Amino acid sequence: MREIRIEGIGVSPGIVIGEVRLHARRRLMVRPRPLQEEQIPGELARFEQAIEKSRKGILKLSQMVRRRLGSDSANIFEAHLLMLEDPMLTGRAREIISQDHMNADFALLSAMSEVQQAFRDVKDDFFLQRLVDLEDVGRRLIESIQSGGEDRGGSHSGPHILIAEDLSPSEAACLDTKSVIGLVTEKGSQTSHTAILCRSVGVPAVVGVPNALEQIKEGEVCILDGNQGLVLVDPDSSTMLEYSARRRVIAGFQRDLDRIRGERACTLDGHEVELSANIELPGELQHLELSGANGIGLFRSEYLFLAADTMPGEETQFREYRRAARAVHPRRLIVRTFDLGGDKQPGGMKFPHEANPFLGWRAIRVSLDRPAMFRTQLRAILRASVEGNVQLMFPMISGVAELRRALTELDKVKAELDAEGVAWNRELKTGIMIEVPSAVLVADQLATMVDFFSIGTNDLTQYTLAVDRNNHTVAHLYQGLHPAVLRGIRMTVEAARRAGIWVGLCGELASDPAALMVLLGLGLDELSLSPVLVPEIKLLVRSLRMEDCRTFTQRVLAMSDADEIHAACDEALRAQFGDLPLWRPGAPRGDNR
Ligand code: PEP
Ligand code: MG
Repeated sequence: MREIRIEGIGVSPGIVIGEVRLHARRRLMVRPRPLQEEQIPGELARFEQAIEKSRKGILKLSQMVRRRLGSDSANIFEAHLLMLEDPMLTGRAREIISQDHMNADFALLSAMSEVQQAFRDVKDDFFLQRLVDLEDVGRRLIESIQSGGEDRGGSHSGPHILIAEDLSPSEAACLDTKSVIGLVTEKGSQTSHTAILCRSVGVPAVVGVPNALEQIKEGEVCILDGNQGLVLVDPDSSTMLEYSARRRVIAGFQRDLDRIRGERACTLDGHEVELSANIELPGELQHLELSGANGIGLFRSEYLFLAADTMPGEETQFREYRRAARAVHPRRLIVRTFDLGGDKQPGGMKFPHEANPFLGWRAIRVSLDRPAMFRTQLRAILRASVEGNVQLMFPMISGVAELRRALTELDKVKAELDAEGVAWNRELKTGIMIEVPSAVLVADQLATMVDFFSIGTNDLTQYTLAVDRNNHTVAHLYQGLHPAVLRGIRMTVEAARRAGIWVGLCGELASDPAALMVLLGLGLDELSLSPVLVPEIKLLVRSLRMEDCRTFTQRVLAMSDADEIHAACDEALRAQFGDLPLWRPGAPRGDNR
C-alpha cells in the first residue's frame, strides 16, 4: 500500500470511491509506413474495422447526449457519422492505402489534411465550423486504427473517477455522469464553469490538483473527497474505515435535508428568502423537484450552444425554454441570454484571439454584435413566455447605453412577433445581471429601466478585485467576501430598494454557508444556486434569525480586511452550525467537516 494524499480545491460536494481513468489528450503520432503489395488487403481490413468501431462509439455518444440534452443537441453526431462515409475522407484514405501503398493511419491523416485545406479554401463560415467536427472524427479514427480497432468512446464506460488536465465547458457538458462518478483536474477554480457544471449535475469534484496526471495512475483506486478538496490514492484500510464513517454521517445529514425539502426558506423570525436554482443543461430539470428550489433563478442558456457545439436555432431554443418553463410552472424561469466568450467559446462560432478574453468580446457584447443570433434567441424566449412564468435577463451589462441597446432589440423583436401575430407574454419581466463594477456604480440608473437585478458575484469578484476567476495562481486573492465586493452588493441592493425592484444573487457565493448570514443581512430577496446545494442552504436559513444576520452584517461591513471578514464568518458558522457536515466551497483542509 502506498496511500498518497493530494490536496486541491473541493468544488463539488460528495465523497466517492472508485477506479481512475486518465483523460489525457494524447498528441497524435502518425508515421508513414510503406506497405508491400500483399499487406494491402490486411491494412484495408484494419481500416474498415476502425471505421466500424468509431461508428459504434459515435452512436453511443449520440444516444447519451440525446438522453441528457435532447435530440437537437445530438444532431452534431449525425454529421460525424456522415463524415465516416464521406468519399473525400474515408474514400480517399482507402485510395491512398491501396494505390500509394501507405499505412491506414497515415492515409487517413493525409486525406484529412486535403479535406481541411478544401474547407479552408471555400472561406465559408459553415465549412470553417465543420473543421472542428472533421478534427474530432479524424482523431477518433486514427486513435481507433492505432489501438487496433478500440474506440475511445466505448472504452471508459464503467463507473470511474476521471482525472484530466482540464475540461473545456463543452467537454464538461458532455460528461457521461452515469460512468464519471467524480472528477479531478489539474487546473480550474471554484467559479470555473466546469466546476459549476459538476455541482449542477451532482458529480463530486476536486480541481487545482497539481500534476494529477503524473501522480495518479490509470486503474488505481482513489477516494475523492469533494467536501474537503482531497484525493486519496490507493487508500489504506484505516482511511477506508474513516471514510465509511464519514459517508454515514453525511447520509444521516442528507436524511435531515430530505425532511425540509418541501418547506419554505423562512428564518426563525419569519423572513422569507427565495431559493432558486442555477441550471446549465436542460437534463438537470429532472433533479429540480428533488432540490426543493423555488424555480430557476439562472438558466445559463449558452450551454445549449456549448453542449452541441453548434448554434441552436429558434425552434430548438424555443422547445428548451418551453420545457424548462413548463417544468417549473408556476414558479419562475429566468433565462439569461447567451453569455458567450471568456472561457465559453463553442466550436461552432468564431472568436477573435484576445489577450484578455474575460475583458473582451463576451456576453451582451457578443449578442449586440450578432443581431441575427440575438434576435433569434429573443424570439425563442418571447415565444416561450406564454408557456409559463418566463423572465428574461441580460448578462454583463456595464452601463445605461448598453442596456438601452439591448432593450431596443427586445422591443424590435416584440414588434416583429406582433406583426406576425405570434403571442408573447405582455407581462414579461426583464432584468439584468449586476456583475461589472461600472454597473454597481450606476445601479440607481439601471434600476429604473428593468424589473429586477441578479448579482453575479463570480464575475463581480473577478472584475472588482482584478483577479481572473480561472487562474489558480491568484486563487487566494479571489475573495467573494472582500469588503469591496460586499460594498458592491450593498450599493446594488440599496439602488434596487429605492427603485422598488427585487434583487437576487446568483453567483457561487450564494452557496457558501459562511457567507449566508451576510447575504441575508444585506437584504437580498433571492439566492440562486446549484440545485444540489439548495437543501443545505435552506436548512441553515431556517435555523437563523434575520435580526442576528443584520447585526452581524453591520459588524462585518465595518471591517476593512477580507481575511478578518472571512475569519468572522467562519467563526459565526462554527458557533451556529459547527456540528453539521456542511459543504464549504473550496474549503481549506480540515475545515468544518
Ligand atoms: C456570475 O458571474 O456570478 C454568474 C452567475 O454568471 P457566470 O458564472 O455564468 O459568469
Ligand atoms: Mg457572470
